[in-house]
Amino acid sequence: MQFKKKISAFLSAALVITSLSGGIYADETTAGRKIKGDLNRDYTVSAADVVALGHCLLGKAFLEEDDLYYADMNKDNEINIFDDALLRKTVLGERELEYEEEINPTQPPTEQPTEPETTEPPTEPPTEPPTEPETTEPVTTTVTEPQTTVVTTTEIQQIDLSDMPSEYSYALDWVWENRIVRENSTARWNTIFDQIVAGEGTLNYVVRWQSYKTLSLEQRQQFAEMLETSVNNWTDYLVGYDGWKYDHVDVSIVGWAVIDENCILDRQPDEIIYTNLTDYDSQYDTSNGREEIPDKLPNAPDELSRMYHFDNNIGFDYPGGLDKRFDMYMWATQGFPDIGGCGGDWGQRLSDNAYLSMLDGSGIHVFEHELGHGFGITDFYGEEGASDGFPPGGFPEPTIMMAGNSAEITNYDGWQLRYIWSKIKDETDSNGTRRFN
Ligand SMILES: [Zn+2]
Repeated sequence: MQFKKKISAFLSAALVITSLSGGIYADETTAGRKIKGDLNRDYTVSAADVVALGHCLLGKAFLEEDDLYYADMNKDNEINIFDDALLRKTVLGERELEYEEEINPTQPPTEQPTEPETTEPPTEPPTEPPTEPETTEPVTTTVTEPQTTVVTTTEIQQIDLSDMPSEYSYALDWVWENRIVRENSTARWNTIFDQIVAGEGTLNYVVRWQSYKTLSLEQRQQFAEMLETSVNNWTDYLVGYDGWKYDHVDVSIVGWAVIDENCILDRQPDEIIYTNLTDYDSQYDTSNGREEIPDKLPNAPDELSRMYHFDNNIGFDYPGGLDKRFDMYMWATQGFPDIGGCGGDWGQRLSDNAYLSMLDGSGIHVFEHELGHGFGITDFYGEEGASDGFPPGGFPEPTIMMAGNSAEITNYDGWQLRYIWSKIKDETDSNGTRRFN
């Protein structure tokens, strides 16, 4: 993005966001230093900086040349989504803080601790956020040094629906009432929210490879990485939000259901391959016109399927334990059109070619769009204000859930996810059983 000699909008964005989060990394060692990612110069790298960078990427705020050091996380002299990704990782504690000594440090904010310096930069991920919304609990950390004990108190604050930017509320309220509630798209207690919470912060996939194309070991490993990244591109928005308990979702491929075992090249001893086939009738599928859609469908065992247990209301005991279950299929079909796909709480279905090109980085937004359906977010194919359409007046920002509108999950999409979580997190059934424990 272009640098503009204009700081006022940026400052106002920073002012708005300072209320969102206390310094996750507030630490005496960082006061007076230039920390990569510290866009609002509060000597911490926190969710507030992620929000500020998001505003800049969306053109709602602008950066000055002085801001380059702080925003250019990967030092390529451009500010873009790659910096955003690194900043998120830093906030989540997956990267170490990077900083320089400031030549003329300004006075650190008064709420910063002023205890003697320790020599180690903080490397620990943020402490588990408190589970109650709207609370600010002092978290006490004890640092033991030779001969002396230093007690540091840091405010870790959760954000919730009351922190939603006001310009989003009309569209999100409209989508909630007119689309999500009316279509019951979060009614099944099997959304990806339900799956992750039941999996205690994990999500397990079986890859359903309805294709005769081979998969190398490297490709299979890349699929696992792609799934992990895409799921967390959504769920990172829930970190530190309204009682969500997980800093990261561990996504695993726990099996491969294939038409032909020979498609799995260089099979590893720990890889589980399923070859149970059922007949498949493709007469209602759209074809890409070049390849035939296979007439067989590979399946993983029902006793390991969360979906099967949910649909048959038989509880959630799996042979071998929770780790052995799979929540969804990553379903690839040969002969499907290379654009588009479909998704739900059962998984995401795209062409095998579409999945294979994601390994080169192209078209991942289609998969992320389909993941959005698994969280209960609807499509917006209809007209403005229509029963299958989008909010009157349009969306306040582009959204990945409106086809062709955005090639990435935007801040608005993140708030859509948060909004749904806030609405469903305290649900109970008629017996008083909580949806989420
Ligand atoms: Zn869709």
